[in-house]
Amino acid sequence: MRFNTRLLHGQYSADPGTGATAAPIYQSSAFAHASAEELERIFRGREFGYLYTRLNNPTVEALEKRVAHLEQGLGAVACASGMAAITLAVMNILKSGEEIVCGSGIFGGTFSLFSELDQFGITTRYARDNKIESYAGLINAKTRAVYIETIGNPKLDVPDIEKLARLAHEHGIPLIVDNTVTTPYLVQPLTLGADIVLHSTSKYINGSGNSIGGIIIDSGKFKWDFAKYPALKDYSKFGPFVYLAKLRQGLFKDFGACLSPFNAYLNLIGLETLGLRMERICANAAQLAEYLHKHAKAGAVNYPGLDDHPDHDQATDQFAGRYGGLLTVRMGSKENAFKLINNLKYAANLANIGDARTLVIHPASTINAANSPADQESMGVYEDLVRISVGIEDGEDLVEDFAQALSQI
Ligand SMILES: *Cc1c(COP(=O)(O)O)cnc(C)c1O
Repeated sequence: MRFNTRLLHGQYSADPGTGATAAPIYQSSAFAHASAEELERIFRGREFGYLYTRLNNPTVEALEKRVAHLEQGLGAVACASGMAAITLAVMNILKSGEEIVCGSGIFGGTFSLFSELDQFGITTRYARDNKIESYAGLINAKTRAVYIETIGNPKLDVPDIEKLARLAHEHGIPLIVDNTVTTPYLVQPLTLGADIVLHSTSKYINGSGNSIGGIIIDSGKFKWDFAKYPALKDYSKFGPFVYLAKLRQGLFKDFGACLSPFNAYLNLIGLETLGLRMERICANAAQLAEYLHKHAKAGAVNYPGLDDHPDHDQATDQFAGRYGGLLTVRMGSKENAFKLINNLKYAANLANIGDARTLVIHPASTINAANSPADQESMGVYEDLVRISVGIEDGEDLVEDFAQALSQI
């Protein structure tokens, strides 16, 4: 089965009770059971059943199954937001005194979260660049995970997933990959050796910017050393599900950052058209990047699809000739960056990415405003930089809109 078919038929079944074709919204906090004995068996994990929506829910589970299938994982846990997914994915295996080795081009929210984790004794070390040696030099006896994004946002750098997975495994630690920006349409990191993948489903999976959500997918293949990850030992009876079982029965349940059934439903609707939207988004982004690249009033254009992008070959190889919907352009000054944003008619000035509509933002004064100038630079954020999240409009209209906006500068 190919990607678009898998989206629709991979883990799909009509509702067994009613035949409803769209996953019904089980907007219920709790689920009734026939007897006290049955409820006891479910609570003790001896029998499967729905209990309470903070733990599991049929609508949320439909999303978990479909995304796990697309990512070729063993299973998934959906969370209230992408940030909840990142928090839970790392806290599930790290404790005070331990460390994360992380790519430098990561999303500002993740950088901010990892800074917050300092106060709980969890330290993050950032690789200077994407050379394998830069990561290798930071791994020590306390490191418990390597964490990367498939395409850094907004740096748009492209780490080598396969090589980093090999490096992590040589040290007995897992590779965790945020696949929000590329989606399983461009790459399925678990097939390249990554161990855990996560998403902000608020972006491309949802696709219309109408609900916040996150998801964690586990390959089930990583060989956990319980001496290194003692908290997983209690769940060893779950075999390959050890990570997911500890997550669902532990921090996920106890932090309470569950996804609402209604938001799961909106994400399920979006997911069905992920392939179509990504195809269009990638084509539009390539067209706009080429146009801006040649435009006299636009400065440096950063898009992994352009020949001059430092990671172009890596992206071509890893993402099968597609490069996603994010690009950035430098305008020479903050003033010109603001003018470009204000002159655009179609591109909305919004903080998110992955909407059906084209979105633009000036990261330095918004998403990354709290980061120091040095941290901004290592994240690829500059005073004159505009980030564009390309949508599914007609590509010619987007080019015309940027043409008229630039002509007024
Ligand atoms: C938006 C985003 C997140 C955070 O997700 P939320 O759903 O907003 O909490 C994490 N990683 C990346 C790459 C993102 O773009």
